[in-house]
Amino acid sequence: MRLITSTDEVSQITTAWREERQRIVLVPTMGWFHEGHLALMRMAGKLGTRTVVSLFVNPIQFGPKEDLAAYPRDLERDRLLAEKEGVDVLFAPAVGEMFGKHFQTRVSLSLISQGLCGANRPGHFDGVATIVSKLFHLTCPHTAVFGEKDLQQLALLRQMVIDLNFAIEIVGHPIVRESDGLAMSSRNSYLTEDERQDALCLYKAIGSAKQMVQNACTVAIPVLIDEAKRIIHAHAGCTVEYVHVVDRHTLAPCRIIDQNSVLALAVKVHGKVRLIDNALLLEG
Ligand code: AMP
Repeated sequence: MRLITSTDEVSQITTAWREERQRIVLVPTMGWFHEGHLALMRMAGKLGTRTVVSLFVNPIQFGPKEDLAAYPRDLERDRLLAEKEGVDVLFAPAVGEMFGKHFQTRVSLSLISQGLCGANRPGHFDGVATIVSKLFHLTCPHTAVFGEKDLQQLALLRQMVIDLNFAIEIVGHPIVRESDGLAMSSRNSYLTEDERQDALCLYKAIGSAKQMVQNACTVAIPVLIDEAKRIIHAHAGCTVEYVHVVDRHTLAPCRIIDQNSVLALAVKVHGKVRLIDNALLLEG
């Protein structure tokens, strides 16, 4: 595996691969790899013949009061993990390499970035769409793999490739969870053992909502949401940022529950760690 920090170099390598008719799969990440990231890399390995993993803690997707400085970083640890997964290139540029002094462009999606996380993180999805567009240009992938944990990000990037005519297939990977159900996240490392127990409220709220749907022929969506909120607030130090039932593709609020209805939630754990999770309500 090659560790590359230069935009020119990653461009040259991926352009040469294109000429050799290799199938390039990109996995964008912010590093501090866990099993979720590694599962995306394994999927990438199956979908193509060359895997590029980008590792970039993107400053323009963090708000001024968010955890950019504290975000966990360990390039050597991540390098070893990616190498073990058979990744061909780990692209880990410095901030100055990606954003020149006079950088002033933003890729911005309207409707799809407004609700859910977008409502509480102004500018976040512009930052995501901008960096992912740059990564697409730099690495020329045929396919890019993203986790379903970031439901809104996935829907937004699917829309972006349509709107901007990127000839790139976007593939979603199911959420990878710890054995007790907690969705894996680099931010879980901020939690103490007690806080981690409280963080299980997201998974419990999802479990209860799915159970309610399974048990009844019809469930009023507001009742489902209220119950999820009650479960979260029953855990010390956990506050709801949002709980919504939305269509997995459009992110529009559902009026009835169908195969595409997702319970999506964001919770602040002990005032410091913001976690998100989601699940289809009708899946087994
Ligand atoms: P991040 O490094 O947190 O920006 O995540 C990089 C990619 O990994 C994104 O596409 C995430 O959606 C995905 N990802 C993160 N955690 C998980 C998880 N637990 N299961 C599946 N995908 C994940």
